[in-house]
Amino acid sequence: MKYIDTHAHMNFVIYDDDRSQIIEKTRNDDVIVINVGTQQDTSKLAVEMADQHDHLYAIIGLHPIHTVSYFHNQDEVGKGGDEFTSRAEIFGTDFYRKLAQSSDRIVGIGECGLDYYRNTPETKSAQEKAFRAQIELALELDLPLMLHVRPSEGSMDAYKDVLDILNKYRDKGNLRGQAHFFAGTPEIAQQFIDLGFYISFTGVITFASMYEKLVKCIPMDRILSETDAPYVTPHPYRGQRNEPSHVRKVLGKIARIKKIDENDMAQQVMENAKKLYRLV
Ligand SMILES: [Zn+2]
Repeated sequence: MKYIDTHAHMNFVIYDDDRSQIIEKTRNDDVIVINVGTQQDTSKLAVEMADQHDHLYAIIGLHPIHTVSYFHNQDEVGKGGDEFTSRAEIFGTDFYRKLAQSSDRIVGIGECGLDYYRNTPETKSAQEKAFRAQIELALELDLPLMLHVRPSEGSMDAYKDVLDILNKYRDKGNLRGQAHFFAGTPEIAQQFIDLGFYISFTGVITFASMYEKLVKCIPMDRILSETDAPYVTPHPYRGQRNEPSHVRKVLGKIARIKKIDENDMAQQVMENAKKLYRLV
């Protein structure tokens, strides 16, 4: 396989009608996919899919927005997603530990972290509790973390808080993982890299020029490609539902920004992903 989408959600209901075709398409397009859970049922489905297809892997965990119940409107969800009401799930370490031990296709814990789109004391404390429990489980099971970090508008607040929390665990085990959909500064990226994390970019880099400087300064051995499908569809497919096969567009854009041959870039990103997630 040539390409890897390190963060997608083919486990979401939006693919219920054509999931097997989309999975087949990724295989034909030479794309390995890591499907990421956001709560118990999407985590379970990601594992089932990975158990059935040898080019799929799973990451299991609880997304910060699912720690408190809220209606998430179109503005928040963005194009490609449906509005939904999140359930308030409390991170059940026993459930996720058992699930993690049920299959060797599970390569990480998450997506977890802090989402300050709604920045209230109630959401903050629920999110931090779930995040810390997932860091602890990842260290116990020696698995990487898939991080979701969304600061409040015009701020880097959630990045600062995530780094503060991660720093408390830096000497407690083999802390490592991926900062998914990275939208921080080069300095913040460096702090994640120093803590053992890889930095990944979505299709947003194909249409938003503000990411060029950032992509340029991420070291070659710490960069990853992802789609975050069904969200942030890359150019020239904008307006359609995103799918992991489009990771080729993301990879192509990373290669152009870094002025590196696309095949070499694909090989480097695959090596990075294999190293972080111990893919076989
Ligand atoms: Zn995601």
